[in-house]
Amino acid sequence: MVELRNVNKQFGAFHALKDICFQVERGEKVIVCGPSGSGKSTMIRCINRLEKHDGGQILVEGIELNDEVRSLAAVRQEVGMVFQQFNLFPHMTVLENLMLAPMRVRKTSKQEARDVAMQYLRRVRIAEKADRYPAQLSGGQQQRVAIARALCMKPKTLLFDEPTSALDPEMISEVLDVIAELARDGMTMICVTHEMGFARQVADKMVFMDHGEIVEVAPTAEFFAAPSTERAKLFLSQIL
Ligand code: ATP
Ligand code: MG
Repeated sequence: MVELRNVNKQFGAFHALKDICFQVERGEKVIVCGPSGSGKSTMIRCINRLEKHDGGQILVEGIELNDEVRSLAAVRQEVGMVFQQFNLFPHMTVLENLMLAPMRVRKTSKQEARDVAMQYLRRVRIAEKADRYPAQLSGGQQQRVAIARALCMKPKTLLFDEPTSALDPEMISEVLDVIAELARDGMTMICVTHEMGFARQVADKMVFMDHGEIVEVAPTAEFFAAPSTERAKLFLSQIL
């Protein structure tokens, strides 16, 4: 479970997150949307402490995020992240990319790390690329590898920050299909995306942000049928 309680974040004088509150239960899928610059990435990066929030509380599986080493180690084990730009290590093969963190962080044996990696590569339907380097793969394939890499750490929650926005249009669905499958299998997820068809299909609830605030949180059907704020209405009318 992930919980944000009155989370604030400043970049110098700029107030990027303003009293953000929301909760994600085990197994829940939350889609975050909102205009560019509204704070979506900042919020999601705070949840696995790529950014430090500077007010309020963030709890991940009951552990409060703060400067303690224990807290950081715990959250990095519980929460996996998939980025817009894949962020694979270019000098390592696909398999090596997947085995690295389990061996280094979880102290998994090489054999087990390899077995788990191959299991998740099969799951994202890309096992045949195990010995290739990232540059030899298409964008959609690289992103599926990045998803498999996150899964290898067996996180309880997956965070996605616009996982398809760097992809050519014809590769978007192969990545969304993999994420939708994980959603069906019960993975807890928080996903920033502008893919509203996908959102309708997988999300339990929608979070709409604007200017560093959560303007609206609503069950998915309700959000699309009748957003309760003018700002969300305007956003949807521009994007749909
Ligand atoms: P997009 O849809 O374009 O990805 P976003 O909703 O993810 O936008 P953020 O990246 O979270 O928006 O940025 C929110 C605001 O905080 C923006 O105005 C951005 O310029 C500012 N910001 C983000 N990171 C930093 C930083 N490291 N230093 C200063 N300002 C930052
Ligand atoms: Mg962003």
